[in-house]
Amino acid sequence: MDKIKMQTPLVEMDGDEMTRILWQMIKEELLLPYIDLNTEYYDLGLKHRNETDDQVTIDAAEATKKYGVAVKCATITPNKARMEEYNLKKMYKSPNGTIRAILDGTVFRAPIIVKGIEPCVKNWKKPITLARHAYGDIYKNTEFYIDKPGKVELVYTTSDGEEKRALVQEFITPGVAMGMHNMEASIESFARSCFNYALDTKQDVWFGAKDTISKTYDSKFKEVFQQIFESEFKEKFEAAGLTYFYSLIDDIVARVMKAEGGFIWACKNYDGDVMSDMVSSAFGSLAMMTSVLVSPNGYYEYEAAHGTVQRHYYRHLEGKETSTNSVATIFAWTGALRKRGELDDNQKLVSFANSLEDATLKAIESGKMTKDLALITSYENPTVLNSRDFILAVKESLDALIK
Ligand code: NAP
Ligand code: MG
Repeated sequence: MDKIKMQTPLVEMDGDEMTRILWQMIKEELLLPYIDLNTEYYDLGLKHRNETDDQVTIDAAEATKKYGVAVKCATITPNKARMEEYNLKKMYKSPNGTIRAILDGTVFRAPIIVKGIEPCVKNWKKPITLARHAYGDIYKNTEFYIDKPGKVELVYTTSDGEEKRALVQEFITPGVAMGMHNMEASIESFARSCFNYALDTKQDVWFGAKDTISKTYDSKFKEVFQQIFESEFKEKFEAAGLTYFYSLIDDIVARVMKAEGGFIWACKNYDGDVMSDMVSSAFGSLAMMTSVLVSPNGYYEYEAAHGTVQRHYYRHLEGKETSTNSVATIFAWTGALRKRGELDDNQKLVSFANSLEDATLKAIESGKMTKDLALITSYENPTVLNSRDFILAVKESLDALIK
């Protein structure tokens, strides 16, 4: 069989630990035999980030701007222990944070649904995609502990010297106080990313905030979404048969629990943090969750939602067998290859990506899976495979599909 050609390079960001091992296996077994893989390779492994003073992360993000589509392996975000383990020159920032700051986007996370791994919420039949605003609110706050009687005020001094004040609270006994903010431009780009992604994936958008209580702050979010929807997206949504729906966050939560799924749930930063863990664990496993960063300028970066699976890597280093789930990493590759194929009008690449996803799900549906899924599956006697054998089972199922 002729290998599939790619016109434009895909930006490939390699990573760390167990996921770096899976990355290599996926390329060797599932991609290189079928595709003339055209990637521009960036090694975001911590060792190489350290050697380049993290310049490689910036270069990889810039390359994503140049080519439009990237696929990323999970990477270590250094902490104190990692400083010693890797003898780092400094405590580098999270690569995802660096990339997000350069591409300015929204992260969409969706569970991979497969027969045999049933969501705890029994009416959830289709994936729920979580779109989390990734700027501001409580994540960029300023807070005080109030230890003496006094008053806390919010003071806004304009650059031309005007002043606005509001009383937060008169404290007689001890307490706490906090200030936070968001930027209109950031909310706008969040809204655009959600609506664009909805058109791209043909799903409705649901958004919830608390505008009845927060009449200026949360109302601004509601207003911006409504305004951008009406001025830029309403007609396109109508043409695609899609809807945008706003309600109070508590009402949205209640409706989500009763819904079938199959929509994008846009969340403010904190709500997204909390709700994405709820949604992913209710769908089964973090190892079955994909993640894509979509920038308002139309750049895409695909990855698995989980980390580098450090504990399994240490077992691997000791020469012990591992059973690490590669599904989300495979889907990061298929997501990126499909998007590359769509942008380049490369139908062969698009259908290969679809086949590889089908093959992965078929392997699981035939009872072959890694240990994490074997623990939660509804199948009676699953075959538990090690990391490599699961990938080989996917290959077998792929070969049967595309023959
Ligand atoms: P993790 O790598 O997501 O793993 C946490 C635990 O979840 C694992 O120990 C494992 O449980 C289970 N798990 C996660 N992915 C799995 C998979 N594919 N197959 C099977 N089990 C899986 O999180 P972490 O251990 O907290 O973090 C490790 C490193 O990843 C950290 O250095 C962190 O900075 C980094 N990280 C990177 C990203 C990213 O690049 N996007 C995201 C999160 C964390 P058992 O051990 O019980 O089997
Ligand atoms: Mg969280």
